[in-house]
Amino acid sequence: KSDEIYRNLIAEAEKQGVKDQVQIVKTGCFGFCEKGPIVKVLPEDSFYVEVKPEDAQVIIAEQIVKGREVKKLLYKKDEANKNKVAVEDIEFYQKQLRVVLRNCGVINPESIDEYIAREGYVALEKALFEMTPEQIIEELKISGLRGRGGAGFPTWLKWDIARKVPGDTKYMICNADEGDPGAYMDRSTIEGDPHSIIEAMVIAGKVIGAHQGYVYIRAEYPLAIDRLKIAIEQAKDYGLLGKNILGSGFDFDIEIRLGAGAFVCGEETALIQSIEGKRGMPVPKPPFPAQSGLWGKPTVINNVETLANIPVILTKGGAWLAKIGTEKSKGTKVFALTGKVNNSGLVEVPMGTTLREIIFDIGGGIKNGKKFKGVQTGGPSGGILTEKDLDTPIDYESLTALGSMMGSGGMIVMDEDDCVVDVSRFYMEFCVDESCGKCSPCRIGTTQIKNILEKIARGNGEMSDLDKLEEIGKAMTKASLCMLGGSAANPTLSTIRNFRDEYIEHIVDKK
Ligand code: SF4
Repeated sequence: KSDEIYRNLIAEAEKQGVKDQVQIVKTGCFGFCEKGPIVKVLPEDSFYVEVKPEDAQVIIAEQIVKGREVKKLLYKKDEANKNKVAVEDIEFYQKQLRVVLRNCGVINPESIDEYIAREGYVALEKALFEMTPEQIIEELKISGLRGRGGAGFPTWLKWDIARKVPGDTKYMICNADEGDPGAYMDRSTIEGDPHSIIEAMVIAGKVIGAHQGYVYIRAEYPLAIDRLKIAIEQAKDYGLLGKNILGSGFDFDIEIRLGAGAFVCGEETALIQSIEGKRGMPVPKPPFPAQSGLWGKPTVINNVETLANIPVILTKGGAWLAKIGTEKSKGTKVFALTGKVNNSGLVEVPMGTTLREIIFDIGGGIKNGKKFKGVQTGGPSGGILTEKDLDTPIDYESLTALGSMMGSGGMIVMDEDDCVVDVSRFYMEFCVDESCGKCSPCRIGTTQIKNILEKIARGNGEMSDLDKLEEIGKAMTKASLCMLGGSAANPTLSTIRNFRDEYIEHIVDKK
């Protein structure tokens, strides 16, 4: 639909004789998915929502030809308030801070000039000509940036380990294999701002001594792949990628590798196997990829969101990012807010923002006036948090302490009508499908838990099944080879802990 709107706007501008007065460009995601498609008109800052292809005629006729806003398409706070609300007043954006998504919805992602106009590639210039690798690592350390892929490992340390391993051949990988149900942060970041990832990868290459980078991205993301390809070619044309970058003598190239959609390939050792052309299965650590990764060489793997922070840290300084967030979790976090919430979309907030602020202030509360029941954070690896957890400031540690995890940033809201047994079953079915089968705690455990949950859902459950679920879940958590199995039981364990009565109701009432 957005493509049709775009084409219609161009056709109408031509038809109405104003094609020289207006630039019509595609941008990345504005984040406010609930109200899409969105058309923003600058410099007036008119924010048109739920635009239909046929609205192109009136937008051009009113806004461009007559200089008047189209009232019926403007975002309104609520139905009672028919007056225009300035973009900065929209409640969806008020508590957000867009660092990672700084360019999404602002620039044309297919234009390197627009990226450069927003301080793009300034960080790379600094990294090549003004800073030593040690200084860059120090800046990352000051920033407190931790991996946004889920584990929260300090980024500076990963880079430093790889940098210190001797050798001429090293690799830099961007992990864009986003596979959590309901998560689309990385896809949107690449679609909206591909050059930020390229810039960060070249900087990482310079720091660790790598000359080859790979973006491992799932094939189901065709727009992100296209924009990445365009950005790589543009960067090469501008001398920002390839041989002798900006005359610095440093060479670095990037290749795109497409993943076939296996969730486990987001795990870094499985991802490496996949790039090497093998079946994507995790291998035991250590050695860690930073010591011995792709083809046995030191390899840094960072996810998209982590990388998008790098140019900002170098241009604004590590201390700037460190001012945002909590004591141990610095900066912002992007969440894909979905489910039974009024304003679904991509949300970027400072670490330490509470779940209540995200769901009720930014998200506008629960759909249809229903009661909040729980929120699943961290995708199939996370747990389900409840009313009592809503005021916890979100960071890596607090979510883990509550029995969930940051994961990559999926956040699915549930209301009073959702059944926790069904929710647990859904996630466990996903894990059964996605388990690579290499280790028995995960291969057998996920199937056993799924079977017991199905039995309970059918009304054939027994009270002893709850103990069995907990026993198997805990064994999987301790003994699985990778985090897929190690966290697969989280939704089940957290719902038994938080909604035990509901499980018991299924067992007792359905007999
Ligand atoms: Fe494979 Fe699961 Fe074992 Fe990971 S935990 S290696 S996905 S079987």
